[in-house]
Amino acid sequence: PEAARERAARAYELDRKHVFHSWSAQKSLHPMVITAAQGCHVWDGDGNRLLDFSSQMVNTNIGHQHPKVVAAIQEQAATLCTVSPGYVNDARSEAARLIAEHTPGELNRIFFTNGGADAVEHAVRMARLHTGRYKVLARYRSYHGGTETAVNLTGDPRRWPNDHGNAGVVHFFGPFLYRSQFHATTEVEETERALQHLEQTIAFEGPSTIAAIILESVPGTAGIMVPPPGYLAGVRALCDKYDIVMIADEVMAGFGRTGKWFAIDHFEVAPDLLTFAKGVNSGYVPLGGVAIAPHIAATFDDRAYPGGLTYSGHPLATAAAVATINAMREEGIVENAADMGERVLGPGLRELADRHPSVGEVRGLGVFWAVELVRDRATREPLAPYGGTSPAMTETVAAAKAAGLLLFVNFNRLHVVPPCTITEAEAKEGLAILDQALTVADGHTV
Ligand code: PLP
Repeated sequence: PEAARERAARAYELDRKHVFHSWSAQKSLHPMVITAAQGCHVWDGDGNRLLDFSSQMVNTNIGHQHPKVVAAIQEQAATLCTVSPGYVNDARSEAARLIAEHTPGELNRIFFTNGGADAVEHAVRMARLHTGRYKVLARYRSYHGGTETAVNLTGDPRRWPNDHGNAGVVHFFGPFLYRSQFHATTEVEETERALQHLEQTIAFEGPSTIAAIILESVPGTAGIMVPPPGYLAGVRALCDKYDIVMIADEVMAGFGRTGKWFAIDHFEVAPDLLTFAKGVNSGYVPLGGVAIAPHIAATFDDRAYPGGLTYSGHPLATAAAVATINAMREEGIVENAADMGERVLGPGLRELADRHPSVGEVRGLGVFWAVELVRDRATREPLAPYGGTSPAMTETVAAAKAAGLLLFVNFNRLHVVPPCTITEAEAKEGLAILDQALTVADGHTV
């Protein structure tokens, strides 16, 4: 253990000297060291074991170090580490087949990328070339990735410093009853008014200028707002009415996170393009992609698709995807996510909401839950401002961590997003720690 601690200290020192971190002011950072991980747990630089209710960046759907996925990567590495994307390779062919078996509708052509942002870039490019139009409608309260088009589509403060007003993006509000933009008091009203607002946005922007509407089937980082009944079907109908391409971003919500293979499956809607990454192979090797409906794929039957990348369908990444999807099927991992959500996490979180005045709302599906913290339940004033943090949030998260629980945090929300493989005992252990941590947040309520 002493040698491990020394290695961790050395890694930290080199990190602070040489590593440039994402989305951060570099000087004030104190990143945590992770030295090992197994299943739903990680170990920090001091040898402490923590329960990982963040799934890192909400990507380790199959848990850490799944032996079948590790073995598949090792086997592929021993056989063929890399190959130009112009050649056929069996890992990529089989990954595409398996993904197509689970995608909704007829989305059975797969274009592979390195991650989620470039999947979004390519989906938008396909939609623009297919329609001959340029504009894309995207939601406020969304995240679509860190590259140029993807970050401009994004509806959170990470867009602001990157937005030069030239990406052809128009933002609209989606349904979110707890903080309704539409003065709605019921789900039915929220759906109806959110769809009216979207149709009006289309009318005022000019339907003939709009290539695509992109939306997360269930928004992730922005707050896990499960859409009310009829909303996604309504978006589908508007896309059909105005010949607009519907892009479902399933980068975070896909591959079991909501208790179904894709979040959009809960609503029986098929988009024209679907972006995925993260859970496709739990991020063991970087991979993302776009699943493409036949009528869009046909646009590029005789005309070259003007896009590509050196690692499109990288053998190590797609071999990991094959092993991940097979393991998820064999071990009933998607079913486990649904069961844990229905039986343990949903009821457990609602029970915490009943007892803790700092909890304004809990919402989610499967292993995809948001706990919305408020200073005042009556006014719903958030415990941290939009786009910011607060001592109350920082102290609450620190209390959870000190007691052995890692959470995903955004503004005034704690996200309970463990691996889809979580057991009932682990889920209950995490809820018990969260229960203690919420007493810290309670101390900051009015
Ligand atoms: N889309 C959604 C919905 C996401 O949650 C993310 C990442 O969190 C992305 C796109 C970007 O994916 P990546 O970070 O792999 O580029």
